[in-house]
Amino acid sequence: MEGERYSSGVHDENLDPATYVVAAGRPPRTQGSPVNVPVTLTSTYVSTGVPVPGEPLYARIDNETWHPFEEALGGLEGAAGPALLFASGMAAIAAAMSVVPARGRLVIARHSYQVALGLAHEIGERLEVEVVLVDVDDTAQVTEALAPGADLLWVESPTNPMLEVADLPALVAAGHRAGALVGVDNTFATPLGQRPLRLGADLVVHSVTKALAGHSDVVLGAVATREPELRERMHAYRTLHGAIAGPLEAWLALRGLRTLALRIERAQANALELATRLAAHPDVAEVRFPGLPGDPGHERAKAQMDGFGTILGVRPRGGLEAADAVSATVGLWVPATSLGGVESTLERRRRFATESRTVPTDLLRLSVGIESVEDLWADLDAALRAAHR
Ligand SMILES: *Cc1c(COP(=O)(O)O)cnc(C)c1O
Repeated sequence: MEGERYSSGVHDENLDPATYVVAAGRPPRTQGSPVNVPVTLTSTYVSTGVPVPGEPLYARIDNETWHPFEEALGGLEGAAGPALLFASGMAAIAAAMSVVPARGRLVIARHSYQVALGLAHEIGERLEVEVVLVDVDDTAQVTEALAPGADLLWVESPTNPMLEVADLPALVAAGHRAGALVGVDNTFATPLGQRPLRLGADLVVHSVTKALAGHSDVVLGAVATREPELRERMHAYRTLHGAIAGPLEAWLALRGLRTLALRIERAQANALELATRLAAHPDVAEVRFPGLPGDPGHERAKAQMDGFGTILGVRPRGGLEAADAVSATVGLWVPATSLGGVESTLERRRRFATESRTVPTDLLRLSVGIESVEDLWADLDAALRAAHR
């Protein structure tokens, strides 16, 4: 099926993830060989006669520039073999959601990524699938929506943009009891913060665009799974639907992944410090961050995550106008959608008609980067004060 895989003998489960992101997916160590994988720019491969399984044939089916990233992410997530790269996070989610059959049932977090919700509704209409929106905070509600006979439970934790934390082990168990597959969008936590497959989930997807690539310069996605058969299905879906990653993007994503542990360590420390200060700020009404001891998701996050992530929800006093004023006034923070880059970004949510009505219109989503926390604080504090002048 796939060609020769890069590896450097680092399939050691005991390696710390911070080491693994640096060491995984290297070319074979032979005298005179490069330490980085070359970018292969080709659409096709020399081939005569009946194709031999494992030989590269055509670059939509397989491209060796994908392999190091796929191998590294598969290892980080504890998957059955390499992850699968896709053209975008949404392409990866489309592949994962394709497990829902016509007239099936899809149970999905009401505060999922808004485009994932849009896709769920599109599938619902096209295939007469029953789409049930649930509050993943509420384990009993999700359990009730699943039984009997749901086909897929789709969870984000922490949720985008509300930062609710689901009880993943409980939801996985409830999903499996109902006969459903369980898919988790692990974009917010990253595999360094949370490994849903190890908590029993069947499928994990990433918007690689965000923290994994980490530099706001590519759009990519990935799927990882514990089950070889499911991996085959995802691979077949990718080949049939054709939403593949370009080799340059794959190379950039691997380059970004090398520093993931370092970036996350710094950004998480910044996020906790900013959340703590914002919670005491006179111009702030509410802060959501699972790392705050008083946050509703704190205990769950402590139990199932390593670290609390880099995304904050902030509602300034003064409502929508104040939130827009903050976005318009910040100088260092970049007002932009997307998240997970080295640069700190923020945006007011509910700017889009497709967003859930349960997302407050004055919610600012902050993606904390790796800058000096004092510079980030000075800029944010000034913008919050200016919004109330
Ligand atoms: C951005 C994002 C996606 C979509 O990923 P793309 O790479 O933009 O297609 C999916 N889920 C979450 C949680 C995201 O933040």
